[in-house]
Amino acid sequence: MVQLHETLETILAEVMRRNAGEPEFHQAVREVLESLNTVIAKRPEYAEEALIERICEPERQIIFRVPWIDDSNQVRINRGFRVQFNSALGPYKGGIRFHPSVNVGIIKFLGFEQTFKNALTGMPIGGGKGGSDFDPKGRSDREIMRFCQSFVTELHRHIGEYTDVPAGDIGVGGREIGYMFGQYKRLTNRFEAGVLTGKGLLYGGSRARPEATGYGNTYFTRAMLGTKGLDFDGRTVVVSGSGNVATYTIDKVTQYGGKVIACSDSNGYVVDENGIDLGLVKEIKQARRQRIAEYARLKGEGKGVYYVAGGSIWDVPCDVAMPSATQNELTGKDARKLVANGVIAVGEGANMPCTPEAISVFQHAGVLYAPGKAANAGGVATSALEMQQNASRDSWSFEQTEARLAAIMRGIHDLCAETAEEYGAPGNYVMGANIAGFVRVAEAMRQQGVI
Ligand code: GLU
Repeated sequence: MVQLHETLETILAEVMRRNAGEPEFHQAVREVLESLNTVIAKRPEYAEEALIERICEPERQIIFRVPWIDDSNQVRINRGFRVQFNSALGPYKGGIRFHPSVNVGIIKFLGFEQTFKNALTGMPIGGGKGGSDFDPKGRSDREIMRFCQSFVTELHRHIGEYTDVPAGDIGVGGREIGYMFGQYKRLTNRFEAGVLTGKGLLYGGSRARPEATGYGNTYFTRAMLGTKGLDFDGRTVVVSGSGNVATYTIDKVTQYGGKVIACSDSNGYVVDENGIDLGLVKEIKQARRQRIAEYARLKGEGKGVYYVAGGSIWDVPCDVAMPSATQNELTGKDARKLVANGVIAVGEGANMPCTPEAISVFQHAGVLYAPGKAANAGGVATSALEMQQNASRDSWSFEQTEARLAAIMRGIHDLCAETAEEYGAPGNYVMGANIAGFVRVAEAMRQQGVI
């Protein structure tokens, strides 16, 4: 663990006291503060007027009841959240997560990360995050619809195209966004396309938004490999998860000549030494909504195909690891295993998937490491492009949108690399991302007075 400057240690202690029992939030704040050691030495104005304390305190936190009726006519209750973290750069922007692990600490960590991520994109978007402890697993389509309608019945009064623009995250994809948009429209009697992103193409969605997070992480990781004269071509890659981010990571890595040999879900992982068959993953996860174990069953075990229940996907030897499932899924032990197996690069598709210990293992071993708040920013960047299309009542081609995404990711990569260099930590993308994101938010806040 990096020793914090005295001022930062005091700030962290206060954040921990005020947000007791929220370890993921503490972890996310600590990581950013560690990167600020050199910033406050160089730019003392950023430690003045409680600027860092203000950045660590969400502007607004909304917690609400979500009652809904299941298919057997039982009344159910879940808890809904929206943390509007920072609006210095634009309306709050960030996804909604439906997962039983959701609580206010998880949403706060995600909103905090989102604030810096969004700043890195260079687009006019603030940071926010929302969700519910609702578990969509095994729920019928009608139950999902009723839940989304109830969720938005409360949330609608807090969001808007100039206020707060939610999107998807774990458990929330195109189907859920559609139900939420439909209910928002009924409640407000407005076709306000820019209130949500990740919409369907027919009603204001953007081309390349579904692909954007996975494609973006692949561009970023490729740019990082490029700094050492390396590429995906001929490399073995392990991508954890099998949701939206993992799917399009597998797609793009394969286009660049990489061979993705494993992916997973929360029950276990599947290895296919011939290269993961993306069509089959999509069929299982998107059409049938089944578990990834089906992959091995349908392909037939043997000939390099097998399924491991439980276990760690990071035991599978690979050149590049792209964790794209969830927070803290890759531990110090996993990192040591990956290093022992010769991993050369790690690109985070999920939010905070590597534990602090894992990050330190990678950095000490000289492994190229791209933190999620930079590498997975392509999703939210393309959401901002969706907002831009909605504001101008336009719809861009796939090529045009993808080209913008690629340029934004290249920009984020270069900004992180240059900032790391400037602050005396060449090649350290964690420092680069945290400092560059922080400086943008902090500077905008300074110019806006004590807010
Ligand atoms: N949930 C995604 C993220 O973590 C996307 C957010 C958005 O598009 O607003 O960045």
